[in-house]
Amino acid sequence: MKLQPGIHIAYKASVCHSTTLWHRRLGHLNISSLRLLQEQDMVAGLPEIKAVKGVCEGCVLGKQCREAFPREATTKASTPLELIHSYVCGPMQTTTKARNRYFLTSIDDCTRTHWVFFLMHKYEVLSVFKRFKAIVELQSGYKLKKLRSDRGEEYTSMEFDRFCEDVGMERQLTTPYTPQQNGVAERKNRTIVEMAKCLMLEKKISFEFWVEAVNTSVYILNRCPTKALLKKTPFEAYSGRKPGIKHLRKGYRLYNIETGKVIVSRDDVFNEDACWDWNTQEEKSVRIQITEASEGEQGHEGSSCDSVAQCGASEVLSSSTEIYYQERMAGPQDINTPLKYKSLVEVYEKCNLCIIEPEIFEEANEEEA
Ligand SMILES: [Zn+2]
Repeated sequence: MKLQPGIHIAYKASVCHSTTLWHRRLGHLNISSLRLLQEQDMVAGLPEIKAVKGVCEGCVLGKQCREAFPREATTKASTPLELIHSYVCGPMQTTTKARNRYFLTSIDDCTRTHWVFFLMHKYEVLSVFKRFKAIVELQSGYKLKKLRSDRGEEYTSMEFDRFCEDVGMERQLTTPYTPQQNGVAERKNRTIVEMAKCLMLEKKISFEFWVEAVNTSVYILNRCPTKALLKKTPFEAYSGRKPGIKHLRKGYRLYNIETGKVIVSRDDVFNEDACWDWNTQEEKSVRIQITEASEGEQGHEGSSCDSVAQCGASEVLSSSTEIYYQERMAGPQDINTPLKYKSLVEVYEKCNLCIIEPEIFEEANEEEA
């Protein structure tokens, strides 16, 4: 494949129906769980899962060793929000640009739905938990009844105690040195971290972006099988809808190395097999805007293409109505400023609720069909 000097095009791999690609898109989910998702018809949009030969580099690097079914406790809440497991993970070795060092996970015992929030300090736990409680109660129509956590200061402060009393929420504090009592949350956090490591190591992404990887992992795990549920993903158990996974490659957050800003985009054409070389950083990027992004993708859904380069190029030409170049060296005078810039802080504030589904009606409708 020959590129014009000075121009770097993001090609989209269209041999995209392979099992390996979906293994990677789903956070290096093991093949038996992938097969289960498909055979039990637990998600919409997953192609046939075939046997895979060879070793996956991401799995090796991330030391992914999850079984198809992690062991789960047998007793289980019978209604959503009856029991929430909560756990703070951190401090992480690398602080993000938005100065996040911790993440807080909340797991619904009944549906195994996960939510994740990113924190700078542990003292933010109470305010974040209040926000979480308000959102999920409104969303689900259920009331949060019991909270299980460890005895970390963040959960045992006077303010936290008072809040629980005020709202009539029962506390279950686990006994120190018996992690099995808080097992669901601890095990899940390990799974989240493992998956995030696989994603980052395979794509050689700087650990500065761990928030993105953790957020993605939680989003994926809500759409993966768990032993605690029969023939359903946590997403379906919580929302009553089967999750679609076609959109997993439709929206992107692009990081601009020069400005340190993130662009939220749905209109990019990608090479899913490539990774950015953080050491040389010499490439220039070309952003290709496709007005009918979803149609462009749909048009190629059924077709298979042997040559990644060929397929990527034809797709670019056929579906682009506007192409503009965004070179790394271009200064602030660059006239091709994207419509919407977001700072990382803003992005991370918004990315904590992983239950969010397609934003437009047509997309949701299409996935349900
Ligand atoms: Zn893998």
